[in-house]
Amino acid sequence: LKKGPLMGCRYETTAAASGPPPPAEKYEYQAEVSRLMDLIVNSLYSNKDVFLRELISNASDALDKLRFLAVTQPDLLKDSVDLDIRIQTDKDNGIITLADSGIGMTRQELVDCLGTIAQSGTAKFLKALKDSKDSGADSNLIGQFGVGFYSAFLVAERVEVSTKSPNSDKQYVWESEANSSSYTIREETDPTKLIPRGTRLTLYLKHDDKGFAHPERVEKLVKNYSQFVSFPIYTWQEKG
Ligand code: ADP
Ligand code: MG
Repeated sequence: LKKGPLMGCRYETTAAASGPPPPAEKYEYQAEVSRLMDLIVNSLYSNKDVFLRELISNASDALDKLRFLAVTQPDLLKDSVDLDIRIQTDKDNGIITLADSGIGMTRQELVDCLGTIAQSGTAKFLKALKDSKDSGADSNLIGQFGVGFYSAFLVAERVEVSTKSPNSDKQYVWESEANSSSYTIREETDPTKLIPRGTRLTLYLKHDDKGFAHPERVEKLVKNYSQFVSFPIYTWQEKG
């Protein structure tokens, strides 16, 4: 593996070996990740809204990366030219789905990006949060640092990330529960769930947070954040 030139925890990968799909593999989180998740859930419980901002910003980053690479590699757009973000709410079942047609992640990138803390921003946040413990200024830190992907666990008891990178011929599913010390990765084998490119997050909301799957609530939050996003964001709801 070679460190990629473009993004913090992104790696150039070699072609995967062929053969039957391996079963789901279990991985332990890096210790710092478990600590960060604890801190997020215990410090930001009164600011749960931020999860959507963080996930939209990741989707937007992934679309930016793809658009940038496509300048020199127009082939990257061949499976789908649309660059957008789609958010679906299912209020009856308490599920939010957030899909982008961005750069996606390879299996190795899932491990590197969602199982370890690679970015300095998050590390800084961790330190600031620790330093502020005595002063009780936790909530002020949210605005200064992106708390990132793990904020999904503020509202979700289980998160599924199904993702397809143009650098991989396979789509992978990363899955974890809140308060867990481990996650799993498996190949996506359900043909109805295959996507040409990008990432689809499914948030199975905690019992007390199912209200976040109400379309009006999501649309209001999206309206607040979308002014900072240069890609279209579509929202729609599962028919009840
Ligand atoms: P940050 O956005 O500050 O890098 P996050 O915790 O929000 O930190 O995300 C960690 C990493 O996971 C990102 O840097 C990116 O590599 C990867 N990632 C998260 N969401 C997506 C997505 N929708 N598409 C592709 N990669 C993603
Ligand atoms: Mg982020």
